[in-house]
Amino acid sequence: MINYKDLGLVNTREMFRKAVDGGYAIPAFNFNNMEQLQAIIMAAAETKSPVILQVSKGARQYANQTLLRYMAEGAVEYAKELGWEKPQIVLHLDHGDAFETCKSCIDMGFSSVMIDGSHLPYDENVALTKKVVEYAHLFDVTVEGELGVLAGVEDEVSAAESHYTKPEEVVDFVTKTGCDSLAISIGTSHGAFKFTPEQCTLDPETGRLVPPPLAFDVLAEIEKQLPGFPIVLHGSSSVPQDEVDTINKFGGALKAAVGIPEEQLRKASKSAVCKINIDSDSRLAMTAAVREVFANKPAEFDPRKYLGPARDNMKKLYIHKIKEVLGSDNKA
Ligand SMILES: [Zn+2]
Repeated sequence: MINYKDLGLVNTREMFRKAVDGGYAIPAFNFNNMEQLQAIIMAAAETKSPVILQVSKGARQYANQTLLRYMAEGAVEYAKELGWEKPQIVLHLDHGDAFETCKSCIDMGFSSVMIDGSHLPYDENVALTKKVVEYAHLFDVTVEGELGVLAGVEDEVSAAESHYTKPEEVVDFVTKTGCDSLAISIGTSHGAFKFTPEQCTLDPETGRLVPPPLAFDVLAEIEKQLPGFPIVLHGSSSVPQDEVDTINKFGGALKAAVGIPEEQLRKASKSAVCKINIDSDSRLAMTAAVREVFANKPAEFDPRKYLGPARDNMKKLYIHKIKEVLGSDNKA
């Protein structure tokens, strides 16, 4: 049993309270390799932004949960070396699928876990979330629950259709489970292909697909029901079209990749939404940089020469998100 406090990590409680009060959102970036982690920590340290490092089920399978935990511990020390005196770093389990998964992460030093029972019947979601909360709170680990279903595919989490969160359920759910934050469904979606072309409209000037707007009326109703309670948005990559263009220019085949427009996320950040999950954008930034090196320098075979530019491109993306979208800079 390792407590996250011994690793220099923090939970989300204080961080979310400040974010809700301050009208900004904390970035939750997924990681599963060293270059991603370096880029996240460099970006957070440089901008003095609190940050949530997320580990998904896919990441645990790919990189090993134990290794990722030690990488996060190293990240705290690395942040200090970069001149960030008191790093505000959360290590969070993304989409915990069972009590045992959450317990295993809590026991190993995670400071926050998500238990995703959103696919279960309501009462079973309540019971499972409550069980995780009771265990997590023994160690001051914070818990994110979820109500409503997001469409799209992300590391084994997939659903064909989205179902918006029902505002009439949120008070009952939060009261019964004791969860510390709530992921909701208001039209965001997992992955880099969030909407079909049929769901979008066409911008006549750019020829690009414009996705349907988020359901801000549902968000407003949830905020009315749960004043000041921390709300989480999953599936909130914007799928930067310049990265998609770079990928396609250098041999890729990403057709009609479309995300959530940044101005919508900017608007959400100012509300009770205090955690915004971004994964696909980092994958795109990494892939674009690697493809460009491979296309322009076909003789290159030193991984540092293509993963280095990938890291630089991810760092640029993370800083952009922090400063221009979420507004979490200079908050830690
Ligand atoms: Zn998610």
